[in-house]
Amino acid sequence: MTHRIVIVGGGAGGLELATRLGRTLGKRKQASIVLVDANLTHIWKPLLHEVAAGSLNSSEDELNYVAQGKWNHFEFQLGRMSGLDRARKMIRLAAALDEDGGELLPERELAYDSLVIAVGSTTNDFGTAGAADHCIFLDTREQAERFHRQMLSHYLRAHAGKNDDSRISIAIVGAGATGVELAAELHHAAHELAAYGLDRIQPQNMRITPTEAGPRVLPAIPHRIIRRV
Ligand SMILES: Cc1cc2nc3c(=O)[nH]c(=O)nc-3n(C[C@H](O)[C@H](O)[C@H](O)COP(=O)(O)OP(=O)(O)OC[C@H]3O[C@@H](n4cnc5c(N)ncnc54)[C@H](O)[C@@H]3O)c2cc1C
Repeated sequence: MTHRIVIVGGGAGGLELATRLGRTLGKRKQASIVLVDANLTHIWKPLLHEVAAGSLNSSEDELNYVAQGKWNHFEFQLGRMSGLDRARKMIRLAAALDEDGGELLPERELAYDSLVIAVGSTTNDFGTAGAADHCIFLDTREQAERFHRQMLSHYLRAHAGKNDDSRISIAIVGAGATGVELAAELHHAAHELAAYGLDRIQPQNMRITPTEAGPRVLPAIPHRIIRRV
């Protein structure tokens, strides 16, 4: 029987691996490659700050796993891995639900010969009290879109009001590459929104406050580069 390689997680690592294995072993029928992801489409995580600011429409930049599999000789299975039985070489996938909570796909098992787990990571809040409860993290497309909806709601509320001096304050925890890029995108968005007529919040009234535990912004970037920025 053909060797079955199951890759769980179609992120930066898993998607690349499935594509490469598909183009080689899959195409030559030397192995069958199965990619599993909890979502139907991939979005490149380093773009999430643009989704949050509204400068990128995530639907335009997503990659559909089914189509990618068809073009690159791997199979895609939708589902969130919820268990692993190493003795039987099986993974368990939780039932996939539609938007209304109805069952799209039932809970099921998937057999493997080789298993790659590439489910990524989530932001470390370093145990900061209140962070998990009150911050919007930027690990997933849903979170980025939620932030964007909240920001737009502020603008729409201000637009419906009478005050020409409305303000919006956004605190960004972490002034690494993502935090700094997000601040820049938001600054840009403030000008765009005003230009499109949502001008009850003037660009100078969007207050963006990145916070950073290190001595300067972009602490991971060498000093000689920072000096030029
Ligand atoms: C906002 C942001 C900006 C970034 N900017 C940069 C950058 O500029 N440069 C850079 O090099 N890196 C950047 N990174 C980091 C980079 O995105 C990650 O290092 C990279 O995505 C990790 O790849 P991965 O394949 O390990 O996981 P991910 O890309 O996170 O993919 C994990 C996948 O697993 C799926 N998954 C998770 N759990 C399950 C489960 N139980 N069952 C099935 N599927 C599951 C998810 O749906 C997802 O598709 C950034 C990250 C973020 C969040």
